[in-house]
Amino acid sequence: MILGCIADDFTGATDLANTLTRRGMHTVQTIGIPGGAAPQADAVVVALKSRTIPAGEAVAQSLAACRWLKAHGARQIFFKYCSTFDSTDEGNIGPVADALLDELNSDFTIACPAFPENGRTIYLGHLFVGRELLSDSAMKNHPLTPMRDANLVRVLGRQTRHKVGLVPHRTVKQGAPAIAEAYAALQAQGIRHAIVDALEDRDLEHIGAASSALPLITGGSGVAIGLPQNYRIARLIPQRAGASPLEKVGGPGIVLSGSCSTATLGQVERFAARHPAHAIDPAALAADTERTFASLLAWAQDKLKHGPALIYASAPPDTVAAIQAQFGRDQAGAMIEQAIARLALGLAADGVRRFVIAGGETSGAVVSALQVEALEIGPQIAPGVPACLAYGSPRLALALKSGNFGGPDFFAEALEALA
Ligand code: ADP
Repeated sequence: MILGCIADDFTGATDLANTLTRRGMHTVQTIGIPGGAAPQADAVVVALKSRTIPAGEAVAQSLAACRWLKAHGARQIFFKYCSTFDSTDEGNIGPVADALLDELNSDFTIACPAFPENGRTIYLGHLFVGRELLSDSAMKNHPLTPMRDANLVRVLGRQTRHKVGLVPHRTVKQGAPAIAEAYAALQAQGIRHAIVDALEDRDLEHIGAASSALPLITGGSGVAIGLPQNYRIARLIPQRAGASPLEKVGGPGIVLSGSCSTATLGQVERFAARHPAHAIDPAALAADTERTFASLLAWAQDKLKHGPALIYASAPPDTVAAIQAQFGRDQAGAMIEQAIARLALGLAADGVRRFVIAGGETSGAVVSALQVEALEIGPQIAPGVPACLAYGSPRLALALKSGNFGGPDFFAEALEALA
């Protein structure tokens, strides 16, 4: 293993594994820290579900993953979080990055969530989602991590007691030597975390090259674009083509959506117009969990005899706000995630082998329930979303989609890609 990665959610992990695979690194994603032998791979991405848990627990899990990766040969550690910097003032990006730096005896890292291919760019430390500042985008209404400040120097500054600085775009565009010089200058000022601007993939390639000697890199999947080339130059990996097609699993395919992100709402509407679709009613679920669950499962079993189907909790912000006011934010989220995870388990027991899951937290709950231990990464379905195949028996084909990823027809495209 050359690169050891720790991802704070499951779709984020597949997004990163997708980037590394496409750039010629043989990559395996594990669900949590593997119990058995380390997978044979250039890069291992340990998927945690630590984005929204208490910061202390996120730190403990991330440190355990870091120690496991180092013990299995990782030369560099990558801490992956969302390209919209999903976090709260309590964490977990700052506390985890600080703990990993201590663990690696290092006192400097970068924070770069940019993902230009998906419209996430950083200029003067401000994160943009498409044409909007992060704080004006739909992320301001995220059910768990509403993002209301686009200035990442300030956002990260609230999550760490250390100094946060900036490598501005005018430096980044000059290339790797200028960026490395900026790192050294910031470090000399006692700055521990540097937000790094990036507007396009070329910037990320420069940043990757400049970061070859950093024990820890933190960011979105985009900043991993430049890393495989470092390892090729160091002759640690050979020249390789990208992802190979996955083994076919066949059988019925279900879409399960717990994401309330804008892109997902559009995808739900598009898919529901052409296929059977059933909404989960959180109030009914809270009032009579077993009965509501049984009726959802029976509905899906019936529809899947004839073709693909969709079950979704996805709802617009005002509906989500009303549900959260009634049941509590975390309780509502957990209740819906559990229902979707149980549905996946019930359907897998019934012979369903193709699962398209929308939502990072939701994907985490599903993959845990299905007791998937590791994923083989296949070709990309949409930027940031590869087709995946679970190791073990039976082999399940999965597409794990982070909220705002994928075009309007993503669900149909993903079912097709997993066929
Ligand atoms: P995304 O990738 O879009 O952020 P996630 O699955 O990570 O999606 O997070 C969405 C959260 O919102 C989950 O915890 C999910 O259970 C919760 N949720 C889904 N539908 C509703 C709803 N109708 N009301 C309240 N919370 C919801």
